[in-house]
Amino acid sequence: MKKDHFNPHILHQSLMKNKNAAGLPLFQTRPAQEVRVEILPDKSVVAAKFLPHDQKQGCFKAHPITIAAMRKDLFVGGMEEFSDLEKIVICSGCQKEIDQQFWIFCPYCETKY
Ligand SMILES: [Zn+2]
Repeated sequence: MKKDHFNPHILHQSLMKNKNAAGLPLFQTRPAQEVRVEILPDKSVVAAKFLPHDQKQGCFKAHPITIAAMRKDLFVGGMEEFSDLEKIVICSGCQKEIDQQFWIFCPYCETKY
């Protein structure tokens, strides 16, 4: 019997055999559960901002206090969910508007809620 190269199941199996340079599967059978974003501390970045790293793709720069203040599960899950969870509060320390879903404490003045 002639092998059906356009059979989706065979195509899928053939794709799954591909390996990347590190010898790991190139394609994943399931979407990744966790999106890891690397954030490097940089004191020249203003508070509460994440700037894309100029050299490293998928990497961001942020002030060390911003990194400490951010919720560690921030980048897990879809970006589109954020607007539903928005919870704007006025910081008692600096009177700036902050979205509580992103921060453990105020990224501007380090006041705890
Ligand atoms: Zn504040």
